[in-house]
Amino acid sequence: MPELPEVETMRRNIERLLLGRTLSAYELRLPKLLRESPMASLDPLLGRTLVRVRRRAKVLSLEFDNDLTLAMHCKLSGQIVISAPALDPLMAGHPIPKLDDGNPNRTTHLIMDFTDGTVFYYNDLRQFGWARLGPAEAINEMVLGMGFGPEGIGDEQFVDQVLIEGFARRRIPVKAALLDQQLVAGLGNIYVDEALHKARIHPSTPANQVPLDRIPALREAVTWALDEGLKQGGARIVNLKAYPIDGFPAVHAREGERCPDCGATIIKVRVAQRGTYLCPVCQPLPEGVAPPPPAGQRKKTVDTDE
Ligand SMILES: [Zn+2]
Repeated sequence: MPELPEVETMRRNIERLLLGRTLSAYELRLPKLLRESPMASLDPLLGRTLVRVRRRAKVLSLEFDNDLTLAMHCKLSGQIVISAPALDPLMAGHPIPKLDDGNPNRTTHLIMDFTDGTVFYYNDLRQFGWARLGPAEAINEMVLGMGFGPEGIGDEQFVDQVLIEGFARRRIPVKAALLDQQLVAGLGNIYVDEALHKARIHPSTPANQVPLDRIPALREAVTWALDEGLKQGGARIVNLKAYPIDGFPAVHAREGERCPDCGATIIKVRVAQRGTYLCPVCQPLPEGVAPPPPAGQRKKTVDTDE
């Protein structure tokens, strides 16, 4: 699933290539993309200029000069490709389809053409993503209503106390707590695994049993993991295999490889219904906590974030 680093990369690509551009045409190939939209078509955006692009958690908001905002969520498998004249196309989000497969392609659900020849493609293999167009105020309220916690990176409200209070009332595994967008916004499977490995905490540890003196290291590890992902424009993971850059990711999608810190073999288990990677030596299971089941082998035809 595109996580904060991937969605922030989309935001930066849009800001760089589309800000100040005017929408000249669009093609909505999958009408259900707008299934929950206050406005049922993008016609009101024709001839309008993109003036701002924001991100909150994994929601992108494209603000136009007529006070309308187009909000988008890539969910499991969305990706955004922007093709600008005389530039190589930029892709961010889910790695499939590959850029080499060309655009538009069979997963393309929305195409937006801008007056300078720049084209925006929204692709989504699994079709769980959504877009909503409405007055800026209504869209902002909708995003507020999602109750996101502070951002895991670049947010001064993300302090130790957020985790201390959030964990105190959650008995679920710490991994599940960190995936809860109402606690910290933007974290998904990859970066939670990386943060827990960095902080040397077993993902099955009940949130309310994480020792208080480990919280500062965990909070720093969350921000570190998101920052590493952002530097790479999103970690490269294809068909559940990581292609690390400068050792990141260290454990996620690296089952059977060696832990970079201790040399032990990285294992894959199932925590919070997600494929979870950890080092059994760096991240020992706390006493009294039941070991998680092995991840099992599930046949896959496409890469999805399990
Ligand atoms: Zn280790």
